Amino acid sequence: MRVGADGKQGAGPWSRRHAHERIPALASAYLCTRRRPADATIMEIGDVNVEFVPDGEVRGRPEALFPGSDWSAHTHLLDGDGNVIANVGSFLVRTPTEVVLVDVGLGGELLTNLGALGVAPDDVDLVVLTHLHRDHVGWVGAFPRARYAVDRREWEYWCEHPGGVGPDPDRVLAHIEGRRETLDHRRLTAISTPGHTPGHTSVLVTGAETDQRLLILGDLLHTRAQYDNPDWAFRSDVDAERARASRLEVFARFRDARTVFADGHFHGVALG
Ligand SMILES: [Zn+2]
Repeated sequence: MRVGADGKQGAGPWSRRHAHERIPALASAYLCTRRRPADATIMEIGDVNVEFVPDGEVRGRPEALFPGSDWSAHTHLLDGDGNVIANVGSFLVRTPTEVVLVDVGLGGELLTNLGALGVAPDDVDLVVLTHLHRDHVGWVGAFPRARYAVDRREWEYWCEHPGGVGPDPDRVLAHIEGRRETLDHRRLTAISTPGHTPGHTSVLVTGAETDQRLLILGDLLHTRAQYDNPDWAFRSDVDAERARASRLEVFARFRDARTVFADGHFHGVALG
């Protein structure tokens, strides 16, 4: 197993285009800024390669995003104006036979950054969605060959509760329908972590001939500060108490020496 920066920091191939015009649904909640090029992170697990690919970056007031939270011990996670900084992006999982994306951003710079890694939209075999909030389904429809793995409860919830921070029924749900399946994969295992949304799913990545593993949390956590404060609810949690219970269950089951946590919203390095 290897964890570290991929050497692509700096201007390099990364696009610096602003993405704020692409996400009107979140514009009122977040101030979007350009993505930081140092966010790429890569990890090898046996014969599987996992890399965080940025789509954008969002910022917001901590007291608005995590009601009642006290950030006095976590000011290093805030920017100079006191905002929480969060990545948005996708985990690119390459096995010997498949190209998989776990979540597909807001609709910012993901395709540009995938292209810089040699991955074209046509190369993607499977998209796994941890949940269907808009900041995880932005590029649904961009991968012509892809199947989509979505939890059945998640799918049914958003079909019955369209709007808000959920997926666009015409653009997103209509595209996934007919391409949808339950995750059943040799290297990727769905770990049910409901609360943030009813069918929220974390994704466990394993590889050949190693007991090391990576758990892609999805939105089980939105900031590293929740490691110390699992009681902090995120403002869009559908069931905050269930989300808290899911965090504690995952900590009890997976916080061990052989498991690395990955979270697409962690600012800076997305792993650990
Ligand atoms: Zn999210």
